[in-house]
Amino acid sequence: MARARRLALTSIAAVALLLGSAGVAQAAPGATVRTEGGPLKVRSGPSRSGVIVGTLPNGASLTVVCQQNGQQITGVVRTTTAWDKLGDGRFVSDAYVNRPGPAPAACAVAASAWVRPTDAAIWGGFRTPRNPHHDGVDLGAQRNSPVRAAAAGIVVTAECNVSPTHSCDVDGSPALAGCGWYVEVRHPDSTVTRYCHLIRRPQVNVGQPVAGGQVLGFAGTSGNSSAPHLHFEVHTGYPAVSANAVDPVPFMAAHGAPLG
Ligand SMILES: [Zn+2]
Repeated sequence: MARARRLALTSIAAVALLLGSAGVAQAAPGATVRTEGGPLKVRSGPSRSGVIVGTLPNGASLTVVCQQNGQQITGVVRTTTAWDKLGDGRFVSDAYVNRPGPAPAACAVAASAWVRPTDAAIWGGFRTPRNPHHDGVDLGAQRNSPVRAAAAGIVVTAECNVSPTHSCDVDGSPALAGCGWYVEVRHPDSTVTRYCHLIRRPQVNVGQPVAGGQVLGFAGTSGNSSAPHLHFEVHTGYPAVSANAVDPVPFMAAHGAPLG
């Protein structure tokens, strides 16, 4: 009788162990660091702007919990925007990771409610007859007013875009092309939102997770712009290109955060 009970307890413990291991993300089997010889930097976030928090020697095996999109890196193994999240929450670029099996699953980024990126009137619409290539809406945000992420996501762009060569730290003009200082956020379903003409370098870096409503930067008139405002775009896929731009007015209304 005692022996039977002990056996039963043993099998319960084994079942519990199996359930326990099934409950955590499966690590990619046999992943190893492959560099040109030097150590691989481990960073606090999925970007070269992340703080270096350690290194892994060439050839070291590593446990990847999941992958997150961040800064594109050209490494020894591949060119990729994928960063591998390690068990301790730190990141290495997947460009330097060799593995025999498939890529690990994407890290979960919690979806959030949508919010207005700025509280301002609509000055200009999406692809109007007068401006058929206008892939977003212009919101009359005052200079230095906060520009917020329309929903949670990962920052995929935070840079100065202007041509011909010109500073984004001064007022732009209609004679220039480009978004000026701008940010793009990739949301969990790969919707991308774009925020243009910021007054100075954005408050966020590529690879940084942001919450819905988090301040990305401040409104200005850098790049192709004649007065302070926020040019806001919504794209239904990543990367954001003209072909996947949609009218932000019905999109935001359908997501409970009407513009204007
Ligand atoms: Zn515009």
